[in-house]
Amino acid sequence: MTMDATTPTSTSTTQAILELAQRYIPGGVSSANRLVDPNLVFTRSQGAYLFDAEGKRYIDYHAAFGPLLLGHSHPLVNQRAAEAVMQLDGVGIGSNEQEARLAEKICSYVPSAEKVLFCNSGSEATYAALRLARAVTGRNKIIKFQGCYHGWHDAVLMNVISPAEKIGQKDPLSAGMLPETIENTIVLPFNDLEAVRQTLVQNGEEIAAIILELIPHNIGCVLPQLAFVQGLRDLSTHYGSILIFDEVITGFRHGLGGYQKVLGVTPDLTTLAKAIANGYPLAALAGRADLLDHCRPGGDVFFAGTFNAHPMSIAAALTTIEILEQPDSYPHLFRLGERMREGLREIIQRRGINATVAGFGSIFVTYFMEPPVETYTDLLRNDATKFVNYRRQLIERGIYKLPVNLKRNHISLAHTTADIDQTLEAVDQVLR
Ligand code: PLP
Repeated sequence: MTMDATTPTSTSTTQAILELAQRYIPGGVSSANRLVDPNLVFTRSQGAYLFDAEGKRYIDYHAAFGPLLLGHSHPLVNQRAAEAVMQLDGVGIGSNEQEARLAEKICSYVPSAEKVLFCNSGSEATYAALRLARAVTGRNKIIKFQGCYHGWHDAVLMNVISPAEKIGQKDPLSAGMLPETIENTIVLPFNDLEAVRQTLVQNGEEIAAIILELIPHNIGCVLPQLAFVQGLRDLSTHYGSILIFDEVITGFRHGLGGYQKVLGVTPDLTTLAKAIANGYPLAALAGRADLLDHCRPGGDVFFAGTFNAHPMSIAAALTTIEILEQPDSYPHLFRLGERMREGLREIIQRRGINATVAGFGSIFVTYFMEPPVETYTDLLRNDATKFVNYRRQLIERGIYKLPVNLKRNHISLAHTTADIDQTLEAVDQVLR
């Protein structure tokens, strides 16, 4: 059944799926961040679109939290992934040519990558990066920044979208986290080099790693000041801490070299996931060879996983790179991003709305607040109710943006100018 974006949604099939899921899966979903919408279940995806259980079409900007850089269900990526598992479905022993070719490719593009290890999720990659940093420095503490998300493990699961009263204190996001692990994480404000300098002056000998999202896209889009990132590089070198750029979102999305290539600052370690295999489960820990070599079999840092470097995901990533290497891929993504941001700014200005459009490349977000957007605390001025209600009304009009405060939107290679213009028309209607 196909319907246009304005067809009213019946809830029969949707309700049946939701009830089944709630009966057998806690809360009906397998990831805490996976919003449960009482009226919506997606059952099909293609290119720039999602289709719900009732057949209604949505232009998708959620992109499953970001991986679908080429668009949903990319035919060539799917074909190569299927061919790969029919050839070799994972033997769990020895080296593999395709895996080595992918590592070679990543090293050729990502400035910090001299060697690469593959795993399955961003959380695994950041966990491994921090363990490696602790091992090579012999230190326990790490620095992370308010507003950055690095996955579900105890060392980093804190201070992402924190309420005003939690700023400046620890804001752990789960019960059951080890208090001593939380204790060993120091949380500082993003773009505040002085705060990092003071912490290192006082505790420099104890800091194993500084980890950050180069652009904290988990709170939309707060661009880093170059002096901040360069300062982190200089300070971590001076104090012997390992600098980790978590490019799980920015990696491949903003360029095959990641955002580190855009900024021209090179960390010791980089984590990649999400977009690198266009939706297939793959993550990578890349970085200095002398560090990564600690993780070789028999080395002093244990790194393992039954499904690591699965042939299906490796083939998907090699194909994703092949498509991104085509000369018009990034220009298309960036052109559409610019068209969207310009269109949003024009509507906001014309309608006199108190809002700020932010973004980079194929990422965009509309905050309901005045500029500037430079630190996490700036975002406390965002009207969260308006932010979510605006998105709910867009969803009714067949535009899917995750209706959760501060979440970014993603454009894919499958989106067209017609999709952007249709989205802007819907935005104009909603903001009227
Ligand atoms: N790092 C960043 C920047 C992320 O945005 C995420 C997930 O959203 C992670 C790490 C964790 O990745 P995963 O959900 O694949 O474990």
